[in-house]
Amino acid sequence: MENIKQSQKKLEEEKPIGARFEEDQPYVMPGIRRFQFFTNVDDRALTINLNRAAMFGIAAMLAIDVGKAVVNKNPQTIYCYECRACYGTQDKCPVGIAFQAELVVAARVADYNRFLRNGGLKCIRCGNCQSFCVQYLNLPQIFGTMQIQTMEAMRRGKIPKSMVKNAFEKGLINQAFIDEVSEFLTERS
Ligand code: SF4
Ligand code: SF4
Repeated sequence: MENIKQSQKKLEEEKPIGARFEEDQPYVMPGIRRFQFFTNVDDRALTINLNRAAMFGIAAMLAIDVGKAVVNKNPQTIYCYECRACYGTQDKCPVGIAFQAELVVAARVADYNRFLRNGGLKCIRCGNCQSFCVQYLNLPQIFGTMQIQTMEAMRRGKIPKSMVKNAFEKGLINQAFIDEVSEFLTERS
């Protein structure tokens, strides 16, 4: 015991003044030290640098995910957990949309096909699904923004006619958009 104490004391005496050592760093969370460069942990990957590369990759993907939602002018969609609790809306949705989370994800990445297929242009923005969202996201606002963007993309010819036709034939276009959609399908047929 005395030997251990002596060797600890010796080690402390040998440290350069002001130097930071791994064991001196305060923990901010279990396993995460405040002053380390991104990560010093090498046991998750084969080497420390491989681990860092993996962590940077994850951080870059997250940044892209957030960036897309901001660029697509629907930043609230970042907060969607994709938990699908909103599917509990069921018959409270007056137009029978079954997969609200699909519309949220479609809005995040501006996926017009996914939005149309899941009845995005059928939504009347009543807000009934909002109370089922664990994040209480403003779903009518998210869907409304994506509806405007979808119509705009259709006008600019960015959505293949077959996609719009498919939604039209399945009755997935509501009264507010039906005239313009019919015109679009007639004009280009
Ligand atoms: S806001 Fe749209 S998806 Fe939600 S319940 Fe109303 S019609 Fe259905
Ligand atoms: S309940 Fe809310 S957070 Fe969960 S998937 Fe639906 S919209 Fe996203």
